[in-house]
Amino acid sequence: MPATTEELLELHARIRACVVCPLHITRTQAVPGYGPVTARIMAVGEAPGETEDREGRPFVGAAGKLLTELLESVGLNRRDIYITNVLKCRPPGNRDPEQSEVEACSHFLDEQIEMLRPEVILVLGRHALARLLPGAGSITRLHGERVRRGDRVYVPLYHPAAALYNASLLGTLRDDMARVRSYLDEEEARRVEVRGTPVPVLPEAANLDQLALFE
Ligand code: URA
Repeated sequence: MPATTEELLELHARIRACVVCPLHITRTQAVPGYGPVTARIMAVGEAPGETEDREGRPFVGAAGKLLTELLESVGLNRRDIYITNVLKCRPPGNRDPEQSEVEACSHFLDEQIEMLRPEVILVLGRHALARLLPGAGSITRLHGERVRRGDRVYVPLYHPAAALYNASLLGTLRDDMARVRSYLDEEEARRVEVRGTPVPVLPEAANLDQLALFE
């Protein structure tokens, strides 16, 4: 049974109340995630930055604006995607996540994936890659590739924040995003073949009614 919006919001509430690792001391607030429980695509970044910590939503700062633009450039609307991070709280000064923090926080991401059961996960940067596809290879080798695990497709991508200040990475990220689009189209065609009925990876309309519950 797919999870309901209420169940997802209950998980968000538990994330907001979490005091398991020391990041709860320095955070303004935890940033659970954002997007409809019915999303077939999930995007997983590293950890909230300053703007996210202030606003309580993932990818709303400069890296988030770039992510939105990249998604839109291939016809995707971020409101159709569930966006979250490996860590739900901002590491001070945006330092790298520590292993103990990743371990303390990991079960939340597992629960989110278990609830949404997304068909495609966009893996943003090396920390998300290490967490979601441990041992699969480096981001330099895997970016833009389609990695199948069971029924699910993972696409590692360079982190938008890294591309903000590096023109050549930005060019690569744009090319990889175009590949994401063709993977999605292929996945949709494949699912029609396997199941005989269309099960869209891309929803026809934004799930506005569900998103309203997050506001
Ligand atoms: N970088 C991330 O990895 N996540 C965010 O939410 C914002 C910036």
